Amino acid sequence: MNFENRVNNIVPGESVEQIAKAFFTHTWERHGYSLGSVIFVDDSSPTGTGVLEVAVVDQVRGKLESITVGWCKTLDQVVEYFRECLKPDAPVVNKNVRVPLKESDIVFVSLECGCCGQPFKDSYQRQKKFDQDSGFGICKECE
Ligand SMILES: [Zn+2]
Repeated sequence: MNFENRVNNIVPGESVEQIAKAFFTHTWERHGYSLGSVIFVDDSSPTGTGVLEVAVVDQVRGKLESITVGWCKTLDQVVEYFRECLKPDAPVVNKNVRVPLKESDIVFVSLECGCCGQPFKDSYQRQKKFDQDSGFGICKECE
């Protein structure tokens, strides 16, 4: 989840329709929007396919859903998926995930080694010194 690896700049949203439209038309601001405790955040891979992925995270309950907006054919579809996430009984897929909003919120990140290409996990604070592009770091073997 790429949003976990950075400090996210989140704008207050007006409604589900407004947020869905912004993502669907590729005109969203900064990293995404909040509606109450729920954040809709751009989670596209910085290096990957270029398909827009939006993670929906309740900052109280945890991660609710990951929606591939890039695969939705209509705006109504995106609105419908987003609405499902806002239902009070929407299932939580990961209780431990929150959207980092300041540097100290970033605890543990999933990275790809910029040297050998292997995926690994490390603390954001420890990896900062390697000054790699977003999503990359240097694994223990390559240090
Ligand atoms: Zn490596």
